[in-house]
Amino acid sequence: MSLSEIVSQVQKAEMEANRPIGSTRIIAVSKLQPNARVLGLLAEGHTEFGENRVQEATGKWPEFLTTYPQTKLHLLGPLQSNKARQALQLFDCIHSIDRTSLVTRIVRIADEIGSCPDLFVQVNTGEETQKSGVSPGETDQLIAEIRKYNLPLLGLMCIPPFDEEPALHFGLLANLARRNGLSNLSMGMSNDFDSAVRMGATHIRVGTAIFGERDYSKR
Ligand SMILES: *Cc1c(COP(=O)(O)O)cnc(C)c1O
Repeated sequence: MSLSEIVSQVQKAEMEANRPIGSTRIIAVSKLQPNARVLGLLAEGHTEFGENRVQEATGKWPEFLTTYPQTKLHLLGPLQSNKARQALQLFDCIHSIDRTSLVTRIVRIADEIGSCPDLFVQVNTGEETQKSGVSPGETDQLIAEIRKYNLPLLGLMCIPPFDEEPALHFGLLANLARRNGLSNLSMGMSNDFDSAVRMGATHIRVGTAIFGERDYSKR
């Protein structure tokens, strides 16, 4: 699928769900993609990109950003505390806030450097042991913690279990966000963004459908 085909599919879903056209941001997930494909999309004028590892992102984005400084970069993968400083320096938005210790570290670094990226709390809606994210039962508490520090918290993010109906998880995430007064939902990937948009996603994270298969031998 080309980006423009994804854009029209998103617009159709927005229309059918009675949402304003263009209210969903499309984050092109460029992890493990050849630089030529990423540069192609940058040249087309796309401005929102996602990566899931700090190290991979710091290896390629500083150079791309010199040519395309208006790009907004999103960190989608788990963030280790020892990578927080690098992450705060490179990314405009972090989607994987999942524990208090990471929050206090971000507060300290943001104070030092004088800025803080936008933040999403990642919720492990399927309560899968191998997946990061705060459990649904502990989400309200983590949100309250973040609010104590006045950090720019935008909303919630989830990655539904591979083998379950994603809409159930999108619905759960939307409820958690609503009851906490959060208006942004980062949900929906290549296989389920249509459903996510219908359930109110404000940020979808699409990799394979835009760029093609990833090259995992790079890892
Ligand atoms: C890789 C990744 C995506 C994109 O997945 P696709 O199925 O290729 O669209 C979205 N979100 C996160 C957190 C990812 O790590």
